[in-house]
Amino acid sequence: MAPTPRRSLRHLDAPLDTSNVRPPDGDPSFSAMEGVVLVTGGGSGIGRATALRVARDGGIAAVIDRDADNAHATVAAIEEVGGRAAAYACDVADDAQVKEIVARAQRELGRVGGVVTAAGIFHGPDLQLAHKVTVDDFVHVLRVNLVGTFAVLCHALPSLMEGGGSIVTIASTAAIRGHGYGSGYTASKGGVEALTRLLAVQYGSHGVRANCVCPGGVDTPMTAGVFATPEAQERARTRVPLGRYAQPEEIADVVAFLLSDDARYLTGQTVPVEGGATIA
Ligand code: NAP
Repeated sequence: MAPTPRRSLRHLDAPLDTSNVRPPDGDPSFSAMEGVVLVTGGGSGIGRATALRVARDGGIAAVIDRDADNAHATVAAIEEVGGRAAAYACDVADDAQVKEIVARAQRELGRVGGVVTAAGIFHGPDLQLAHKVTVDDFVHVLRVNLVGTFAVLCHALPSLMEGGGSIVTIASTAAIRGHGYGSGYTASKGGVEALTRLLAVQYGSHGVRANCVCPGGVDTPMTAGVFATPEAQERARTRVPLGRYAQPEEIADVVAFLLSDDARYLTGQTVPVEGGATIA
């Protein structure tokens, strides 16, 4: 009996028809790192490191923070090394302010092609057993971390859709594992992660990608040195496969990749950046 002919793979040599892999709107080869990128919480920590990285890669950073002095300090650091940036004082929990600032940034800097939502808070009264947290404190954290993220993205989306764009939300490993503290914080970060997936589905066909970064412990002003003590470093050696907590620049590097064209086929994903802590 004649052997069954193997299925030919010769069709793979044929020129690839890519006409159907392009989104109907937007430019799939768009790199947010070459345009205007809104960075909330850009006056400190992960947001500041991200704004610096955006500018270093040739983008224009719109540094948004409730603390105007900190936002201006980030811009000064960027300009010192020849980068382009502008500072905008804004409370992301106030929708009217967010609307105005996003419009102003577009007027002054041009179309927004990237958004990084790093503004966020830890709130003392939220960091105790859930039944001791008041609804007011719970809602206060949600208002900044989740509603503030939503507001910025809503006002930026029309611009992102105009020519393609990339959204990177900053949640936390609290979104994907039980840390044991911060009911409002954990709920807000879980909401940010789920919202990011929704946006990826709703706006993918408009050339807009959306991914969520979940940092583990990062040594920033928010964590006020708790990850830098000798005890914390010892804890990291046993609990974090890479044996240490992160510096904000290490989160910014991953955000930069997600903003860039190198990640053009990546959307709706949650990327833990935690030295392996969530798989140990
Ligand atoms: P950070 O150094 O405190 O930076 C956050 C920035 O956001 C600060 O400048 C803060 O201003 C600002 N901000 C707070 N509320 C705001 C509001 N309503 N409107 C505008 N700006 C506001 O903290 P970070 O560690 O870089 O945190 C950045 C993001 O990463 C946060 O969403 C945080 O939850 C997340 N994260 C951090 C860690 C960590 O270990 N550091 C781990 C996981 C996730 P103020 O200084 O005035 O508060």
